[in-house]
Amino acid sequence: MTTGTMRSVRYLGPAQSFALRAVAIPEPATGQVRVRVEACGMCRTELHLRDGLLDLGRRDFAVGHEIAGVIEKLGAGVNARRLGERVVVYYYEGCGQCRYCRTGDEQLCPAPLAQPGFTTDGGYAEFMVVRATNCVKVPDDVPLAQIAPMGCAGSTAVHAGKMAGIRPGEWVVVHGTGGVGLALLQYAASCGARTIAIDIGVEKLALAKDLGASVTIDAGKVSDVAADVAAITGEGADVVFELVGLAATMRASMAMLRRRGRLVLVGYTGEEFSVHPVALIVRELVVLASVGSTLQDLHDVVDLVAMGKMKPVVDYTLPLAEFARGLEAVESGGLMGRVVLLVQE
Ligand SMILES: [Zn+2]
Ligand SMILES: [Zn+2]
Repeated sequence: MTTGTMRSVRYLGPAQSFALRAVAIPEPATGQVRVRVEACGMCRTELHLRDGLLDLGRRDFAVGHEIAGVIEKLGAGVNARRLGERVVVYYYEGCGQCRYCRTGDEQLCPAPLAQPGFTTDGGYAEFMVVRATNCVKVPDDVPLAQIAPMGCAGSTAVHAGKMAGIRPGEWVVVHGTGGVGLALLQYAASCGARTIAIDIGVEKLALAKDLGASVTIDAGKVSDVAADVAAITGEGADVVFELVGLAATMRASMAMLRRRGRLVLVGYTGEEFSVHPVALIVRELVVLASVGSTLQDLHDVVDLVAMGKMKPVVDYTLPLAEFARGLEAVESGGLMGRVVLLVQE
């Protein structure tokens, strides 16, 4: 059934619960395709939207940006061979004109045409339309429910990893082993780095170890994680990816760097990060920030998955109608990877 209405989980505004509504099935415009969404990963960003921490000014659209599905209708000008292709969706549609779009950094475009799941209709819906070039082909042997979280968790990790410029032999700390953290551990390992995973809980850290972490630290059991990192690495980490975003973890992340180490901020909460400049100056620390990914980063993730160098981690799946239960699980933490909505169920 591809005429009439579909189910869609809508963002209505900050500090409001998402609402499951029946809306019209969208038609693809020139250069676009319509994707029948099979799976959509649940990202913490959905909580940030719901809570008003992230407000890009737009209202009444379907949330969800870790989208995998099948191209089932083509707009004008799209190569007919793409019909029926299994794809994962890149969620930025930049203006195509600015200096960032010209160099592929669409995630920095100041005037994006669309951002599915952030400002325009995303993947908590049975269908969505998107620019054809945003659809990245998924290898036949990779299930769509597995690849869906790579659309954000995986691509965000690869982008942050590239921003940090990880080199072989470096000590890389992944502070927080949610979906992005687990992907980052694997990406850093694929770059030849030695990795330290920090989180709370035996099970989460066992999973990090299974996915290739050289060392794990249970922050719930040690009094000073930075001292542990110093003991393991000799002086401190070359790179720390901060994925938790609490004031205390950000402070600890900075403290565990070696001189000229790189701190990469990726995760955030409502808490602020403050630092006295001298703490940076005397150790020549580098603070980087990384948002989302480029289209190429998503292509790279799909290749890494196909090569067996990146294993998507899905804790469990839920039917679309049970999205609220999934959001609760994301909020309460302790997940072993992503929760993925099976949208057609
Ligand atoms: Zn996300
Ligand atoms: Zn642009």
